[in-house]
Amino acid sequence: MEHHPSWAALARETLGMLPTLVGADASRIAADIQRAIAASSRPGGVEELRRALYADVRVRTWIQSRPDPYEERSTVPGSSGYEGLAGKGFASAVPAPRYVCKTPGCTSTDTWIRGFMGEPVPRCSVCTRVLSRETQ
Ligand SMILES: [Zn+2]
Repeated sequence: MEHHPSWAALARETLGMLPTLVGADASRIAADIQRAIAASSRPGGVEELRRALYADVRVRTWIQSRPDPYEERSTVPGSSGYEGLAGKGFASAVPAPRYVCKTPGCTSTDTWIRGFMGEPVPRCSVCTRVLSRETQ
């Protein structure tokens, strides 16, 4: 059995807004919506509820201008960033080559770790020579 609590919740919220949205038509539209809420647990009742809510263009416009609660839940802030972090964590399981300056007498303590295959090796910040792969 399909159940859509979000439509029922939206309908109840809409009932509270009706006097503001439609003025004198509020009681007539409220009766339609309340009837539809009561019927919304039946098969196809949600469609009736949706129709009742969208029957008046002023109510429909208001509903459609609201942020969709489903969308808010599916686009959690930083959800794509989480995937990026997971990807990096996986990659770092493979030991990454470290690069250091090997110029004799250079005071640099620069170390650089290659983030991905083919990433260009940076130059030393002190002697400006390209860093060399560290050997253990
Ligand atoms: Zn150097």
